Amino acid sequence: MTGMTLALSKGRIFDETLPLLAAAGIVPADDPENSRKLIIGTNRPDVRLVIVRATDTPTYVQYGAADIGIAGKDVLLEHGGAGLYQPLDLNIARCRLCVAVQKGFDYAAAVRPGGRIRVATKYISSAKAHFAGKGMHVDLIKLYGSMELAPLVGLADAIVDLVSSGGTLKANNLEEVEEIVPISSRLIVNQAALKLKRDLIQPMLDAFAGAVRA
Ligand code: ATP
Ligand code: MG
Repeated sequence: MTGMTLALSKGRIFDETLPLLAAAGIVPADDPENSRKLIIGTNRPDVRLVIVRATDTPTYVQYGAADIGIAGKDVLLEHGGAGLYQPLDLNIARCRLCVAVQKGFDYAAAVRPGGRIRVATKYISSAKAHFAGKGMHVDLIKLYGSMELAPLVGLADAIVDLVSSGGTLKANNLEEVEEIVPISSRLIVNQAALKLKRDLIQPMLDAFAGAVRA
């Protein structure tokens, strides 16, 4: 592939990336929300988009199946970042990775050093590091979605999940008790592609950086 392939997930990352693409002169030919196509052309014959699951974006870029991608810091922390150059925080899809518990649960008592807590999350690596830093034993339960349910049905004492407005927590009688890390989406670039296709990639990085500053 001589052109440039950009990996994006549909939903908020795709939506919030559209203005950045526009700043780089790139307009997708289809809307992934209304199309079942996984490879989407653009107004530029040398640029195409591939639509992937958010968690898979770093993998496509790491192996060079996409030259560039846009991924949440939450996803990058779990992936580890091998083979990826991360030149730019795009400041989009902002939220925070948090610990939340059912209202009334005594979190302060539970997190004493040497204590033990059961935590449900899809962010196993970030959760493990967070509780290890407190000198606690943590039993991690891997979930793939709807983490908010786990404390309500006794699957876990706490969850580690993304929060933006807090509306979902509130609707489920949960409260945020700790922020682990602020989250936004980053541009990621395959390290080999950056060297081999710099003439294509660098102008796009510059246009994105300009749009983020504006
Ligand atoms: P699904 O929710 O359909 O299972 P997903 O969780 O893989 O899919 P999204 O919910 O679209 O995908 O999240 C994609 C990325 O957007 C996340 O990795 C994160 O960086 C960011 N994100 C997730 N939730 C929020 C939120 N509430 N506010 C802002 N950004 C968010
Ligand atoms: Mg989601």
